[in-house]
Amino acid sequence: MGVSGLDVAIVGAGHNGLVAAGYLARGGLSVEAFERREIVGGACVTEELWPGVSGSPAAYTLSLLRSEIVRELELHRHGLHVEVHDPYLFAPFPDGRRVVTWSQPERTYAQLAEDWSRADADAYLSWARGREAAAARARPLMLDPPDRERWLEAIGEQLLDGAIADELAAIPSEPVRVPFTLQGLIGTLAGPGDPGTSFVGFYHDLGEAAGAPAAWGFVRGGMGAATRALRSAAEASGARVRVSAPVERVRVDDGRATGVVLEGGEEVEARAVISNADPLRTAALAGVEAPPGWRQQGPVVKVMVLLDGLPDFPAWPGEQAWRGAIDIGYTLEELDRAAQDARAGRPAEAPWIEAASQTSVDPTLAPEGRHVLSMFCQCFPPDADAEDAADAAIARFALACPGLPDRIVDRLALGPRELEARFGITGGHIFHGEMLPGQVLEDRIDRRAFGGVERLYLGGSGAHPGGAVTGAPGYLAASAVMEDLR
Ligand SMILES: Cc1cc2nc3c(=O)[nH]c(=O)nc-3n(C[C@H](O)[C@H](O)[C@H](O)COP(=O)(O)OP(=O)(O)OC[C@H]3O[C@@H](n4cnc5c(N)ncnc54)[C@H](O)[C@@H]3O)c2cc1C
Repeated sequence: MGVSGLDVAIVGAGHNGLVAAGYLARGGLSVEAFERREIVGGACVTEELWPGVSGSPAAYTLSLLRSEIVRELELHRHGLHVEVHDPYLFAPFPDGRRVVTWSQPERTYAQLAEDWSRADADAYLSWARGREAAAARARPLMLDPPDRERWLEAIGEQLLDGAIADELAAIPSEPVRVPFTLQGLIGTLAGPGDPGTSFVGFYHDLGEAAGAPAAWGFVRGGMGAATRALRSAAEASGARVRVSAPVERVRVDDGRATGVVLEGGEEVEARAVISNADPLRTAALAGVEAPPGWRQQGPVVKVMVLLDGLPDFPAWPGEQAWRGAIDIGYTLEELDRAAQDARAGRPAEAPWIEAASQTSVDPTLAPEGRHVLSMFCQCFPPDADAEDAADAAIARFALACPGLPDRIVDRLALGPRELEARFGITGGHIFHGEMLPGQVLEDRIDRRAFGGVERLYLGGSGAHPGGAVTGAPGYLAASAVMEDLR
């Protein structure tokens, strides 16, 4: 006989499941989260990847975790410490040129004026100011149910539905546009001219790492320190979190969720069930049809590389180049072609990469002299061979950093299939479903009555507002449960 009579059972203890658990427990409900892995966090974890060397094999940088959640759950008291990374990004080019941006637009302005031209810097600043004004209006909407009219009013049609290529067209030098363009393609198989890519880029500006608008930062101890803090906060409020406890199915009686059944047969009764799993997995667990047309085939191969030192980039020798995001895209045409390749079922010949080496600023992750390079590589088809993809990505990175291959000690390559096996995300999609038109705002999966099952809530990234480490879908699912159970 297992636990009986919970108010809420949560399938999965990814960051969203933990946010939901924290809010429900604070609301006085009895809640338990059941996680299949031996650690909490889902795609927001730190793992020991080599003896004595840890890294974040899925998400690697934090911005979007809602500041309301950080404050209300008192995550700092539970060990969360985020430091803004500067540079914001560094995009080296094979010919030795570079784009460097900082968390403060004025500093980026000065940098672009020096490295490129006054015209590039002016166009950048006018774009960045417009984006930040829109982001300031949109941030409060992130914890509200989807409402296209309000978003439209806050950010306008270009940012909501437009193509990133159009949004950036006023910046004269193409290489300057490349790293900003790439942000609009994350988690998609779209090209820069495709509708909705502006929104993907804009979404990444809706955070405020350490209180700095639109900045991104490293969590001290890696991304798992964020989910450990969420777990600790939830447990301090009375939630229970059980690891190594895979849910075999959601119990459904007369069209209503009544609990979960764990692998091994333990039955857990609950008045409501929140699924933190992706929409396809949730459908399978509840025995209902998958949401029609839902697209969650992952285009990403994540490569974690162990290095015995940080080589120089000819475009920016020294360690500072390694301290933020490193974007390898080179040309807009190549970004477009990479997506075309993957859409045709071929691994991109010239994948684009966003890399980061947190060990360059965080000594807690690896012994001195060792570094971990995290390479987020796009665009690949679902059956991509991860090792081949890693070879292609490293070769591409080496065009701007010829010293890299000689510093590689070992690597771990995770393609869509490996991401699925490790993190439990069907298809390995980083956002539980791409965030293009038809899958955003009201068109994302409704958090209530998943698959028509009453009292089954979707509280993972497949629900509004979507993917990345935001905590928002978990917060919104918990709010819906509290409204409905009262
Ligand atoms: C390679 C990669 C890089 C990324 N980079 C970033 C980044 O730098 N910054 C950022 O903000 N976002 C990033 N993302 C996206 C972000 O990590 C995810 O969108 C987010 O972590 C998803 O959180 P979630 O809580 O919705 O779901 P998940 O993290 O997927 O959590 C779901 C949980 O449910 C569990 N589960 C599934 N099925 C069952 C079952 N049957 N029984 C019990 N438990 C189950 C899973 O094990 C998992 O723990 C990245 C993602 C990936 C994969």
